[in-house]
Amino acid sequence: MRLGIISALAEEQHGLIEALQSPYKLVHGMREYTGGKLWEIDAVCVLSRIGKVAAAMTASILVEKFGVTHIVFTGVAGSGDKNVKVGDIVVAEELVQHDFDASPLFPQFEIPLTGLSRFATDTALTQRLATAAAQTTRVHRGLIASGDQFIGKLTQIQGLKAAFPDLLAVEMEGAAVAQVCFELGIPFAIIRTISDNANDNAAVDFMHFIKTVASRYAYEVIENFCKA
Ligand code: SAH
Repeated sequence: MRLGIISALAEEQHGLIEALQSPYKLVHGMREYTGGKLWEIDAVCVLSRIGKVAAAMTASILVEKFGVTHIVFTGVAGSGDKNVKVGDIVVAEELVQHDFDASPLFPQFEIPLTGLSRFATDTALTQRLATAAAQTTRVHRGLIASGDQFIGKLTQIQGLKAAFPDLLAVEMEGAAVAQVCFELGIPFAIIRTISDNANDNAAVDFMHFIKTVASRYAYEVIENFCKA
């Protein structure tokens, strides 16, 4: 196994680079890829930057240039359900691109030529990640929606919840990684710590959260995941 670990923001990757043994660095396409041994696992860590295109490019390059065989995305997200609280973790079982709409040619949310609107994560990786996360905080498993929008208005999150009643979290990269991994046949898992409620307070809560807890959580979960 060679594990690709993607985060969107520096705060979400904090500590992992320092934990890599015999690290090597390579800059490509405006991103810095750091490889090495992470608690005995051959790993490559990278910041994707923000949004679906950025995440898709990063995932593709991890596979094609760095030869990763598995991908884990670790980051923060807005809550998509009243039972999912700030500080909880959501481990994705399915991902949807909530801003994708090629209707009437294809059903809304369906990714043309795949026949799918939801992409499923790898069962074994997801289970291992959920077990690792449960050592840190409360864990929920289910649907995450991604789009090229920061959801920071109550009406926006209410609209998404109406479209996806089983929604647990909203973010900007996961479903793009999911589509790339589906198309390349790479097992993947997505874990998100809830930083905000995707409502009118989201931007303020998000800034506070990434400065305080986001980094510690990502580090702990990946450590437990690698050691398992
Ligand atoms: N100004 C910030 C922008 C971050 S965008 C900065 O420069 O650091 C928000 C990031 O966190 C994205 O990577 C996204 O995946 C995640 N995220 C957290 N809360 C979100 C929300 N409410 N809506 C969408 N994405 C969210």
